[in-house]
Amino acid sequence: MPVTPEEFRSAGHQLVDWVADYLEGVERLPVQPPVKPGDLAALVPAHPPAATEPWADVLADLDRVIVPGLTHWQHPSFFAFFPANTTYPSILGELAAAGLGVNGMTWATSPVATELETVVVGWMAELLGLPTTFRGPDAGGVIQGTASEATLCAVLAARERLTAGAGNRTGTPGDLTVYATAQAHSSIEKAVRIAGIGADNLRLVETDEAFAMRPEALAAAIAADRAAGKRPCLVVANVGSTSSMAVDPLPAVAAVCRREGLWLHVDAAMAGIAALCPEHRHLFDGLEHADSLCTNPHKWMGVNFDCDLFWVARRADLIGALSILPEYLRSKASESGEAIDYRDWGIPLGRRFRALKLWFTLRLDGVAAVQDMIRRHVALAGWVAERVAADPRFELSAPPNLNLVCFRHVAGDAATDDLVEAANASGEALFTRTVLGGRTVLRFCVGARTTERRHVEAGWALLERLAPAA
Ligand code: PLP
Repeated sequence: MPVTPEEFRSAGHQLVDWVADYLEGVERLPVQPPVKPGDLAALVPAHPPAATEPWADVLADLDRVIVPGLTHWQHPSFFAFFPANTTYPSILGELAAAGLGVNGMTWATSPVATELETVVVGWMAELLGLPTTFRGPDAGGVIQGTASEATLCAVLAARERLTAGAGNRTGTPGDLTVYATAQAHSSIEKAVRIAGIGADNLRLVETDEAFAMRPEALAAAIAADRAAGKRPCLVVANVGSTSSMAVDPLPAVAAVCRREGLWLHVDAAMAGIAALCPEHRHLFDGLEHADSLCTNPHKWMGVNFDCDLFWVARRADLIGALSILPEYLRSKASESGEAIDYRDWGIPLGRRFRALKLWFTLRLDGVAAVQDMIRRHVALAGWVAERVAADPRFELSAPPNLNLVCFRHVAGDAATDDLVEAANASGEALFTRTVLGGRTVLRFCVGARTTERRHVEAGWALLERLAPAA
């Protein structure tokens, strides 16, 4: 017998309680579980159940099988990678979306899914202070699953714009070139590969001491490619690189792009959300000359994964690259030109109702709560940077920016590597290692929703305790 509505109600209430208990108690768990590959799969039968099981057993297995195998991204001492924080309103929005079970692939397949998406993406454009380039009638914004998908869409749109729609023909994209720095996220190379442009046509433009793109090196790389018969197509600029939060100089990069006729895509996956605070809006200086932008509410805004915002200055470029109309998707609404079909704005046909969790978050917690959180994180990261500067065992590896501090042990790479490993093995906090300028670096990224000063102080105390003398 399938689950009845009454059983669903009762299980649902218990599950909501369980989630709240998990989130309120996660601080007491080790941030990363001390498990080996295969440990968790061994807790689950190798074959599917022959008969249905009671809800109580399934619920109990969340504690027995799932929690022990989690890296707790919602832990206040999670200082690794980048945040993927979640809020209660966003969880409720996700639940509502699952319950409604619609597929918003076209306007007609669920009109309000499309229209709410247009409205909340417009709200976000306003709250982030986006330039009018991304807010006029020719522009457009859409929710993608991830920044990786948004970047792929930007690459495809740029390819089709440059080749007048012929970039998807056999052999065409091979002479196109794309520009980013070595600090650009791996999703840029992945997009270039998927778009058929070829990883060997991705140019890694030289950076300055702050790991930001040198515009004159960009101009030189483009000139060299033109001289070699290539067709320079697109630049991806970082606003907040993954390794060190480097920000490429958008005004100067945009000037090169305009002069040369290249598409400029801005990857602001994490840092862009900081523009919700007016004091961080300078991150977007020069954005008015970009062709596309992505930023992730699923990283630093408390909208649970997955939720990326993607804007294009000319929606026709995107739709031109991605629209295919089979007979079974035709509708009067689409043909009237008055309705948006978001299937033409991204990779998948099927679309989750992601706007709900953004809508719930903005209405229930409000943007002021997000701003408070961002300001708290930035202040705490500033405190970490001061501690690093004052400790002779450490040196900063990049200028601290927003909520990220990158530093290393002066004794060398092995000492930094050992420190990251020992700190993570303790379960008390979690950090990520990266490499900057050829040297191993520890990234201390403050971004969980519930991180307070005491967690950052404890994280720092852990590093102080474990770090060997200089
Ligand atoms: N771009 C930057 C700068 C990132 O930091 C990340 C995630 O680490 C990404 C892109 C990829 O994000 P997503 O997982 O949304 O594809």
